[in-house]
Amino acid sequence: MQSLLTSFPDEWRTSPGLVIGFALLATVTVQTVLALFGSVRRMAQQRHQFHLERERLSYEVRLAKSRWTQMEHEKSSWNGWRKFQVFQKRFECEDVFSFVLKPHDGKPIPAFKPGQYLTFGLDIPGRDKQVVRCYSLSSAGSDNSAYRVTIKKEKAPPDKPGVPHGVGSSFFVDAVQEGDILNVKAPSGHFHLETQKQTPVVLISAGVGITPVLSMALDIAATGSRRETWFFFVCRNRADHMLKAEVERLTAGSDNIRVVVCYSKPSAEDVQGKDYHTAGRLTPDVLKSVLPSNNYDYYLCGNGSFMKSMYEGLTDWGVPDGKIHYEAFGPATIKKTTETAPPIPVDGAGTAKKFSITFGKSGRVVAWDPALLNLLDFAKAHDVRIDSGCRAGSCGSCSVAVKQGAVEYLSQVDAGEEGSCLTCVCRPKTDLVLDA
Ligand SMILES: Cc1cc2nc3c(=O)[nH]c(=O)nc-3n(C[C@H](O)[C@H](O)[C@H](O)COP(=O)(O)OP(=O)(O)OC[C@H]3O[C@@H](n4cnc5c(N)ncnc54)[C@H](O)[C@@H]3O)c2cc1C
Repeated sequence: MQSLLTSFPDEWRTSPGLVIGFALLATVTVQTVLALFGSVRRMAQQRHQFHLERERLSYEVRLAKSRWTQMEHEKSSWNGWRKFQVFQKRFECEDVFSFVLKPHDGKPIPAFKPGQYLTFGLDIPGRDKQVVRCYSLSSAGSDNSAYRVTIKKEKAPPDKPGVPHGVGSSFFVDAVQEGDILNVKAPSGHFHLETQKQTPVVLISAGVGITPVLSMALDIAATGSRRETWFFFVCRNRADHMLKAEVERLTAGSDNIRVVVCYSKPSAEDVQGKDYHTAGRLTPDVLKSVLPSNNYDYYLCGNGSFMKSMYEGLTDWGVPDGKIHYEAFGPATIKKTTETAPPIPVDGAGTAKKFSITFGKSGRVVAWDPALLNLLDFAKAHDVRIDSGCRAGSCGSCSVAVKQGAVEYLSQVDAGEEGSCLTCVCRPKTDLVLDA
């Protein structure tokens, strides 16, 4: 106190009134500052409270919307085939077209879960049997004014020159026109985004595998969801870059969706930073170099080897199995470590039983290979043609009569007709004779 007083000018020290006045002024100033600080803190707390309340309300609105959508879905969904008219056929890139479909009866159609697919029953001239094929919806799940699928013509394998191009995809690309009527089953499939959740996601695709994951990203953008979203896509170059403008629009006006496009073989005209971000294949290392951590839900779709390498890379990186979701358009290449299929039957020595599989119509007898996941892929590996659609045991197009022996199912499905099996989701339980 003494040293404080000595720091005052002489006239202050001789005037106690001035000192008291100064002390009062200091007290009032301190109290004012404390009061100000208090109200700033209260305002910040109120703002935070308001923000939390807004988040809670928007979550409840989303939940209510999703319940309403579910109710609408139940009202406007359908069983079996329904006629849809091709409203628009749009060129995307070489061999790839999008088809916008509207119900021929003009009645409402249900919203779908982004990632789901439609099943088509195609009456193709010259074929005595309807061809059943599945195509993922490539539009936003919340858009229930029309459906859109994007289809790539599947060419014959280059090493099999005598073989015809894919029957269903060629029909769509070469023959289906605007105004045509198609038989369509309601959207289905388990590979879809959980739209009520706000957890961060990584959407990864190659080539035409873009369709279900684009639907997911479009849905996130269309519903104004704030969830952190990474969209990785790989194709050869601009000539193959389907749905390019739509992917570019994903990031416009949104700071939660980020897009990374890789060109595996950029051409001289392709501009890095404009057409694509990274040259080379899309590998797990590309993901690791871009993502801030591995803590996401991953949704993958692409060809067999791409999916296999992504799945293995992600699990090596420590991503739990339950956070990796995928859809295979062709033969399955991923076998999840946590999958709960029945144990592989073994003989007395503990080795997998080599059941004998007879394909009656094709006249082939081969030993079952337990490395293959199902009878459909096994048949394909031995050049025995079995038709297929959804590859999930629901469309019934891979059904084959079992003339002798028994099969076991790998997941819970409605096993279909007595005396036949859904080859895409079963494997042999004994030696088998199949009508294929
Ligand atoms: C859930 C799901 C969603 C899908 N979504 C999409 C999608 O969004 N877009 C898309 O384009 N595809 C999608 N597909 C793939 C699609 O369903 C078809 O599998 C694909 O179009 C090929 O069908 P296809 O009838 O044209 O070919 P297929 O007639 O089944 O032929 C397949 C291949 O076999 C070859 N082949 C024909 N005959 C022989 C023979 N005798 N020997 C050897 N090879 C032969 C053909 O040349 C072709 O390359 C999806 C698949 C599933 C399961």
